[in-house]
Amino acid sequence: MTTDYGKLTWEDVRDADKDRVVILNVSATEDHGPHMPLDTDTVLGMAVANGVAKAAPEEVFVMPPVAYGFNEHHKDFPGVIWIQPETLIAFVTDITHSLAHHGFRRILLLNSHGSNHPVLDLAARKTVIRDGIICVSASYWNLCNDRINEHRKSDIGGIAHAGEFEAAMYMHLHPEHVDLSKATNQNLHNPGSKFFNLDLAKGGGKAMLMRWWSEVSPEGTMGDPTVADAETGGKFLQAAIEETTALVREIRALPILQRRDHH
Ligand SMILES: [Zn+2]
Repeated sequence: MTTDYGKLTWEDVRDADKDRVVILNVSATEDHGPHMPLDTDTVLGMAVANGVAKAAPEEVFVMPPVAYGFNEHHKDFPGVIWIQPETLIAFVTDITHSLAHHGFRRILLLNSHGSNHPVLDLAARKTVIRDGIICVSASYWNLCNDRINEHRKSDIGGIAHAGEFEAAMYMHLHPEHVDLSKATNQNLHNPGSKFFNLDLAKGGGKAMLMRWWSEVSPEGTMGDPTVADAETGGKFLQAAIEETTALVREIRALPILQRRDHH
């Protein structure tokens, strides 16, 4: 049976192993500097999801992605399509509710856009409450940050948005769509700040302030794409696929527990 949810027939769904983990990538359509396309988060998120499907073909289904996310703070850059967080929670939980209706009981909301992180956390929690199934949310870079740091060339602050990590993986997948000649180093790391620095692989963001993107990033980049290369991108992607596959296997092994009402 295919892992591509969209290629299943209704009879396939009826007969499917409902303990397969259904992966829903939620991304964004937004500026990624002058050097990368608007679809970056979708291309990378789906490369991870499809990589997991290849590694574990009997254990997952991959849904068509939700290619729009919570990013109104990016709208000073042309091309951004933003979804209100309340709408996104409602939309994603309608998808998970539908999956639960068909009998699926293990869902992974695989996030590939930073500001979706709290939104999908809430959507997963709401699904557990409404449907009584297992619904997990995870941002894929958080699953593999040790391994990103093993391979990275950029300093702390070099991996945030359209920086080394995303540029290298996109170059590995579709080099014709990344133009590094237009990229500049926009490492905004402030060694004087204890709480507000953001690097996807080196922590930070202990306190959260998301400013208007155009206030802090002159051309949409945050990080250092100038050191990105396709070979390292392949290593980043492989690490993301392996760690997400490990997560999927843990989700598959989780026991279905019973509530007990103590009234
Ligand atoms: Zn991105």
